[in-house]
Amino acid sequence: MPLERYVDGVLSGNRVILARAITVIESDLPADGELAARLLDTVLPHTGESRRVGITGVPGVGKSTFIDALGIHLIRERGENVAVLSVDPSSPISGGSILGDKTRMERLAVEERAFIRPSPSRGHLGGVARRTRETMLLCEAAGYRNILVETVGVGQSETAVRSMTDFFLLLMLAGAGDELQGMKRGIIEMLDGMAINKADGDNKRKAERARTEYANALHLFPASADGWAPPVVTCSSLNGDGIEEVWQMVLAHRQMMENRGLLKQRRSRQSLEWMNELVILGLDESLRANRAVAGRLPQLQEEVQKGQMTPFAASRELLRIFHGEAPGGQRH
Ligand code: GDP
Repeated sequence: MPLERYVDGVLSGNRVILARAITVIESDLPADGELAARLLDTVLPHTGESRRVGITGVPGVGKSTFIDALGIHLIRERGENVAVLSVDPSSPISGGSILGDKTRMERLAVEERAFIRPSPSRGHLGGVARRTRETMLLCEAAGYRNILVETVGVGQSETAVRSMTDFFLLLMLAGAGDELQGMKRGIIEMLDGMAINKADGDNKRKAERARTEYANALHLFPASADGWAPPVVTCSSLNGDGIEEVWQMVLAHRQMMENRGLLKQRRSRQSLEWMNELVILGLDESLRANRAVAGRLPQLQEEVQKGQMTPFAASRELLRIFHGEAPGGQRH
């Protein structure tokens, strides 16, 4: 299919073509890479208008139920549309997906005005995050005004999602052990808001108590540079209580960011980070594709593993090979 058909299809909000365009972006074929780059360049002027919200929390906290509830709320109560993406690098230990393959977001999945795309299945975090970011741009070009990017509570992927969104939401549970212990400093510094999920039934009062505790705990951290103090709210993704409050928090943050010119700042900082990441990804790919490097790599790995060579010396040699230099440092 020629570029123009992709562009027209995406810009007119054709979901079938949008899905195909995303497949092109996720592809590893060199020909698709060229097409993807041109497609992105062409639609870029039509992106940037949406609210980009990152959502994280440990498995079982209720992320998919929450996104289902929020998405339905946005569509039915607020007349909005929504795209749901995820960053789910395969687990380094099991090799399997962390977010899981179960049927997720059942109500949202059948909504006309929702577009759900699972995480690109292959690859390490850098590649997965890159594709999710590019997919987000395509969804924006296709007219989706709210993008929810889900990830799972494992450090690196949270940083990646934070760096592609305007608002980063942490979902928590009440009474899951020591409330404060679970709050890793790294994530506190990243978040723009917190919602304590499953505030229903017997759990409701516990959730309220946890809300106060978390709010107090957040006060102990230095205020963020933009002067925004992350609010803490409670919600139930099961009965919908508090979902509107969560969204009001996102909107209030957006308003503050826009009024003070901070949204532009956050996004331009992200663009710069993204450029740097793409350069590093590109270098990494070239390194792996380099035949001379690939030829020498297994032996160096073995020597390092056996302690016959230091990691330092081995990495220097690989880089020398990559740069086409002779062992002495001269170019061939
Ligand atoms: P995820 O792993 O973070 O995506 O969590 P899920 O959305 O799969 O939810 C895990 C379990 O918690 C499921 O059995 C949900 O039905 C349940 N759950 C999610 N949200 C709520 C809620 O607000 N209240 C209650 N009572 N249960 C919930």
